[in-house]
Amino acid sequence: MQLCTDVVIFGGGVAGLWALDQLTEAGYSAVLLESRGLGAGQSIAAQGIIHGGLKYSLQGMLTASAAEIREMPHLWKSCLEGRQLPDLSAVKVRSPFCYLWRTDSMRSRLGMVGARIGLRVAPQSVSPAELPDVLRQCPGSVARLAEPVIDPGSLLETFRQRHQSRLLQISPDVAPEFELNGTGDVRSIRITSPDERQTLRLLPQMTVLTAGAGNAGLRSLLRLPGQKMQTRPLHMVLVRGDLPELNGHCVDGARTRATITADVDQAGRRVWQVGGQLAEEGVQQTPEQLLSHAMQELQEVLPGFDLSGTEWATYRVDRAEQATRGGLRPESPGVLTEGNVLSCWPAKLALAPQLATMIVQAVGQHAAFRTTAPLARGLAQTPATPEGWPVPDVAAPPWERNQDWVPFSSRPGERRAAA
Ligand SMILES: Cc1cc2nc3c(=O)[nH]c(=O)nc-3n(C[C@H](O)[C@H](O)[C@H](O)COP(=O)(O)OP(=O)(O)OC[C@H]3O[C@@H](n4cnc5c(N)ncnc54)[C@H](O)[C@@H]3O)c2cc1C
Repeated sequence: MQLCTDVVIFGGGVAGLWALDQLTEAGYSAVLLESRGLGAGQSIAAQGIIHGGLKYSLQGMLTASAAEIREMPHLWKSCLEGRQLPDLSAVKVRSPFCYLWRTDSMRSRLGMVGARIGLRVAPQSVSPAELPDVLRQCPGSVARLAEPVIDPGSLLETFRQRHQSRLLQISPDVAPEFELNGTGDVRSIRITSPDERQTLRLLPQMTVLTAGAGNAGLRSLLRLPGQKMQTRPLHMVLVRGDLPELNGHCVDGARTRATITADVDQAGRRVWQVGGQLAEEGVQQTPEQLLSHAMQELQEVLPGFDLSGTEWATYRVDRAEQATRGGLRPESPGVLTEGNVLSCWPAKLALAPQLATMIVQAVGQHAAFRTTAPLARGLAQTPATPEGWPVPDVAAPPWERNQDWVPFSSRPGERRAAA
């Protein structure tokens, strides 16, 4: 069996799915291949904050390219309200805003000042009457920041529903076979179904890699140069139990000491994902060490809030990005064009729309499409994918996968010593 298509996309995280949506909207025929679950790398593990530049302004480095992130909350809001394409009105919004609060240190006070100066939409002070109980005993004023928080799982599911006929689950164990021409362009790709009973030969004009950390392996199969990608690890904390809804950042100097986002698990328990500085520093720690530190940290970050009865766990995940000098966080999405292959990294979930625009532009500039617009070529937009070929599901969020939960202890160090 073989299938002709304008574009083949590898990887169904937020980057690949948003690009698929925009490419088909622009009139290109495209299929997306996924080897695990949609978003199985970073997207399903993300906290879902549509950043508007808080982190950059805290560090006093909102450069021209980074400034584009300031437009993201507004753009996403239009899509989430169904006023702009892609229509994301079915996506679950965890919160329309993030709280911003601080601890009592001087660094922390200065961080709040930085946040107020650098942002396009200044944080709004929350009046004492509006303060959620969980933040009632925090020092200083608590602010509200117009950065929406979405549930990444429902975002992936929205795109899945819309593009089912263009999504193909491929075997995680059998590598795709690329046929290259003399200049290294992809001529065909042979893929294998998950049960390894069917194969399909794809004949794309262009191949787009949005496989996150998987881009490295695909680039190696395509004999493209290495070292174009970097990974930056995180060790995240999960807390579940009788918890209130809370989405926001505890600011400490130029860093976010802890970033907390909330969802509900399948058993109806509230789950907090805790990232920020805690998760960056946690990379060097064992789960036990990180949990011990996190239990102390959250008591300081949320003074007076009772965490007893909660359960705690951790998960590790790598952020996969285009390589930067010194391995620093990239400020903007990256698209690398090599022949008829694009390697792409969004840098942030919030920047997926910007990356998709860059991908559509790069595809349009390629020789195969430069002279004739895809719609003018009159190609069928939906290539006929083989009947019965499995469609990938959305990956499970980290709190549904994690089995190693431990009870909260107000003096975790003592518990470890006793053990
Ligand atoms: C813990 C954490 C929290 C984050 N929080 C935020 C946040 O609050 N806000 C924000 O803006 N950003 C956040 N980010 C960053 C954001 O998650 C990423 O920038 C974004 O999700 C990357 O999307 P992606 O589609 O490039 O990659 P991924 O989501 O990793 O998707 C890659 C996909 O490719 C598939 N794949 C891999 N190899 C292959 C292959 N060979 N063939 C086919 N498919 C393959 C994978 O299974 C996966 O589905 C966070 C990241 C992490 C790790």
